[in-house]
Amino acid sequence: MASDPNEADALLDLSNIVRDDRLGGRGPADLIRVERVGEALTSLYGAERALMLAVADDSLLTRKDLFLLPQQRRTLRGWAESGLILTAGKADVPLLRIAEATGLPIITRDRFSGHRREFTWLNGSDDAILEPRTDRYGEVSLHHVTLHTKDEWQISVSEENDLLVQQGLTERAEALDRFWSCPEPRCPRHDPAKGPFVLLPRVRGGRLVCDQHGLDMVDLGPRPRIAQLKIMRDGREVRRFPVAEGTPVTAGRSPGPADLTPFLDDTTRRGVSRTHLRFDLDGPQLTVTDLSRNGTTLIRRDGTMHDLCGGTRPFSVGDRARIHPTLEIIRSGRRYPAELAIERVSAPPDEPPPPTVSF
Ligand SMILES: [Zn+2]
Repeated sequence: MASDPNEADALLDLSNIVRDDRLGGRGPADLIRVERVGEALTSLYGAERALMLAVADDSLLTRKDLFLLPQQRRTLRGWAESGLILTAGKADVPLLRIAEATGLPIITRDRFSGHRREFTWLNGSDDAILEPRTDRYGEVSLHHVTLHTKDEWQISVSEENDLLVQQGLTERAEALDRFWSCPEPRCPRHDPAKGPFVLLPRVRGGRLVCDQHGLDMVDLGPRPRIAQLKIMRDGREVRRFPVAEGTPVTAGRSPGPADLTPFLDDTTRRGVSRTHLRFDLDGPQLTVTDLSRNGTTLIRRDGTMHDLCGGTRPFSVGDRARIHPTLEIIRSGRRYPAELAIERVSAPPDEPPPPTVSF
């Protein structure tokens, strides 16, 4: 292990590697897997020795049920206390920041799909990740993998999944269809229907609790179904707007939540009608209707194109309504709760942003 990035040959996603049972060893976590990967790195670089700078999730040191051998947990704690490994609530962001600053590859099986928006250099990279593979004799070797560019909707799906995992909500997704309130009146989770932000509860010991106060959340009833749409200019998100069940939203040059005027110049303005498109959410089905003079191109997830001339069509995740070559409306890839989206909050490297959700 290296404690200085200048000495390291690679970064180690410690929580990912010790839990990878394909690398041999026994139990949910085993330090022998780190040793095997270290040997593989040495032989990849043909060096006498190779040093890894390791970053681990805090939970790897605090959870008691991961290592079958208590000695291994003590070893790991010793490493953390002597500064040989870094720990963070979630190791992903610190790992990626160090990789960005140093250019060192990360040994992991993770593809960091939920971080591609923040760390755009990951998209298309063929030297950021070293993936361990095991042959049929149990020999471990490391391989560079290419990270393929993800579509906007795939990134949204991954981000949402990461958030649900973080909150322990993957097995309790139905909980996201309801409003949950923290009994503490000053808590930002007290009135979930108010304000633009909704903070997700956390599952702890089978109960839904407030992240901040640890109190049991109170069920305030069903949350209305909402689809979230994004206005994209030149492939970049410039605004989001929600479409609630039973309340159609029009997009165009008229004022409103989907006013496109700020994203138009003198040339593009002419091709966009005052009410260009209408979005309707009926149950789980979102449709798009063209009301424009110039028409709209509907581009399906599979790349097929349809002229949406005055027609109504289903609008699914991954579909794009092209109003102008530089201006599109897409549907967010999020499913829960009724397609709410994470507001990205910038935070210091070792403190992941709070799981904030906004309409
Ligand atoms: Zn609270």
